[in-house]
Amino acid sequence: MEELQILQKWLDESRRAVFFGGAGVSTESGIPDFRSVDGLYHQKYDFPPETIISHSFFMSRPEDFFRFYRDKMLYLDAKPNAAHKKLAELEAAGHLAAVLTQNIDGLHQDAGSRNVLELHGSVRRNYCQHCHKAFDAAYVKEADGVPRCDACGGVVKPDVVLYEEPLDGRTLETAVRYIEEADLLMVGGTSLAVYPAAGLINYYRGHRLVLINKTPTPYDSRADLILTGKIGGLMEQIRVTPV
Ligand code: NAD
Repeated sequence: MEELQILQKWLDESRRAVFFGGAGVSTESGIPDFRSVDGLYHQKYDFPPETIISHSFFMSRPEDFFRFYRDKMLYLDAKPNAAHKKLAELEAAGHLAAVLTQNIDGLHQDAGSRNVLELHGSVRRNYCQHCHKAFDAAYVKEADGVPRCDACGGVVKPDVVLYEEPLDGRTLETAVRYIEEADLLMVGGTSLAVYPAAGLINYYRGHRLVLINKTPTPYDSRADLILTGKIGGLMEQIRVTPV
């Protein structure tokens, strides 16, 4: 595949590449995305997923929120796939500066990536809304109904950015800086439909914008290179050369 050879060459030459990814990066680890045919948006619930995982729904119907959250968003047995692993190798070899992810599953860190900016937070961190005591994901998974703090009884909230909630300003600023300074921007497994995260691409100033996706995205016309297919299968074929 000619496109893969171009990506290989650009990665070999790169010293501060940035990867920006979404839910599609983890589908090959068994975690469904939101918008593919078999993703969460195509399943039937009493409410659409974006309603259930909104701040107002969390506040008004926490039992329903946590039923959905535990069932559909907590995949604690999932393992990193070839895409996560290759990105970690590229960072260790000195080609990749940072991974910016919209995912909340923590799989990039499990694969060994060190510089991961989690734009939408992580299921791995959970805090009592009252006394701010920290809890792990297993505590939330195993709780009966709404998870409550074992110290003060407050509701424990996952540190994930719900709809209607702002993204963390410092994380966004840092993400913008990495993108502005990137010599290659790889964007993979994201429909680029969720803002403000999707708008980050506009900060890239270079001429090596690579899109990797199973399906077209609204940014295809802006890309310098498009790889169509499964990101794990594609990234597996990349050779990591020492800098
Ligand atoms: P999305 O569901 O909107 O889009 C996923 C995109 O990835 C689609 O365009 C799909 O065609 C593509 N895709 C699916 N599998 C792929 C594969 N193996 N290889 C290449 N492309 C593939 O996801 P999004 O753009 O990340 O935005 C949705 C929001 O959902 C994000 O905010 C994220 O926080 C949240 N989310 C996270 C997880 C997770 O943490 N793993 C899972 C579901 C949703």
